[in-house]
Amino acid sequence: MPPKSVIVIGAGIAGCSSAYALAQRGVKVSLIERHEHIAMEASGNPQAMLYPRLSGDDSASQFALAGYLYSLELISKLHLQAKDFHACGMLQLGFNDRELARLQKVLSWKEAAQHLQLLDPAQASQQAGLALPHPALYFANAAWLNPAALCRALISHPNISVKTSSNPNKVLKNNGLFEIYAGELCLEKADAVILANANQAEDLGMSLQLKTLSVRGQLSLVKASEVSFALRTIVCSDGYLSPAEQGVHTLGASFSSDQSLAIDEYDHQANLNKLNSYSPALHDSLKNSVVGGRVSFRCTSADYFPLVGELLDHAAIMAAPPRPNANPSSLPWTDGLYVNLAHGSRGFTSAPYCGEILASLICQESPAINPTMLSLINPNRFLLRKLGLKKLARSLPAVVASGIKPTLG
Ligand SMILES: Cc1cc2nc3c(=O)[nH]c(=O)nc-3n(C[C@H](O)[C@H](O)[C@H](O)COP(=O)(O)OP(=O)(O)OC[C@H]3O[C@@H](n4cnc5c(N)ncnc54)[C@H](O)[C@@H]3O)c2cc1C
Repeated sequence: MPPKSVIVIGAGIAGCSSAYALAQRGVKVSLIERHEHIAMEASGNPQAMLYPRLSGDDSASQFALAGYLYSLELISKLHLQAKDFHACGMLQLGFNDRELARLQKVLSWKEAAQHLQLLDPAQASQQAGLALPHPALYFANAAWLNPAALCRALISHPNISVKTSSNPNKVLKNNGLFEIYAGELCLEKADAVILANANQAEDLGMSLQLKTLSVRGQLSLVKASEVSFALRTIVCSDGYLSPAEQGVHTLGASFSSDQSLAIDEYDHQANLNKLNSYSPALHDSLKNSVVGGRVSFRCTSADYFPLVGELLDHAAIMAAPPRPNANPSSLPWTDGLYVNLAHGSRGFTSAPYCGEILASLICQESPAINPTMLSLINPNRFLLRKLGLKKLARSLPAVVASGIKPTLG
């Protein structure tokens, strides 16, 4: 039986997308956020770029393309205002031989080729509105968006109630119902729980061993120059530069293991150095114009795929490891504890798609993703691989999708 009520913990893009996809199916959702407002952490950047990072016909690229197309379709249904979403297109520059080879490989992939064009430097410059020295892949429908506006649009639904300033630190299961607690206070009860609270998923009193990694990122906000003002599209390579919005570009983004929230001059310089690698002219016109920045933390997995689906009971598996040929339906499932986590650097292309996949799994529908791809985002893959159970890891999704699971007492 699909659950009637679900608690979603964390109101970033992963939590809001999961809540939306369930609400659309008639499930009552309580969305719990620790801050006073939604979308205040990684999903609180002033702008996010919506484009797929493709390398060729490999599984990561297939997943990125499917997620990108899903996000575009979803956003068109939500009717975001022009100030919050602009399909300005994106130019991915072939700024060295290696990058150029990658772009050629992408182009030879038939499924992707219909969504992009290879432009020579003159055509790329014309599209960008200013001179660019490199050929580029052009994604005409790529966009920048206001992340908080997208999150707000997703959760304005009669089946979703939002509790902000609520900071649960414990999840328990009693008599078949999940209960979430802040200290001794029970905040909410429901048939199922989705953890969409990124790097804090392990802080809820359960031994999940998700092995996610917090990766700091800093954006630079850069005042447009006479040269850069003409930029009409996003340009990107390792980093990205958005067209100026109210006179300010978003230049992104740095990566480090440091966990400080303080804005760092070194990271602004790292962002400018990336810009210099693909457009020295833009770099020279912007290098003294940084007017601000924002720091937040990505949540990533060891193989960079997100973690999406129902969790196995980690402690029970470790206490009695299953045989390699175990029937997946005999494994100790948590029976209602799900995750939508680890969206890394591309949450706006992956989290809405994963929210939809997760909602279809929870409601026992066939998800719109093939079984091989589904196994790549299986949240139990690291646990099972650690136990040498790779084959079992690959066979799990079909079982979850068809709802054949034992009920835990
Ligand atoms: C500098 C930078 C630039 C980026 N640029 C892009 C980009 O251009 N395009 C793109 O697609 N992606 C980009 N990303 C990645 C993207 O921002 C993330 O992948 C995405 O925001 C992750 O969303 P999330 O919902 O998983 O996590 P978050 O947005 O971090 O949301 C998690 C939420 O859980 C809440 N929470 C935590 N613990 C609790 C608790 N106990 N109870 C209640 N709530 C809790 C948090 O307060 C937070 O609101 C960027 C990331 C960074 C850092």
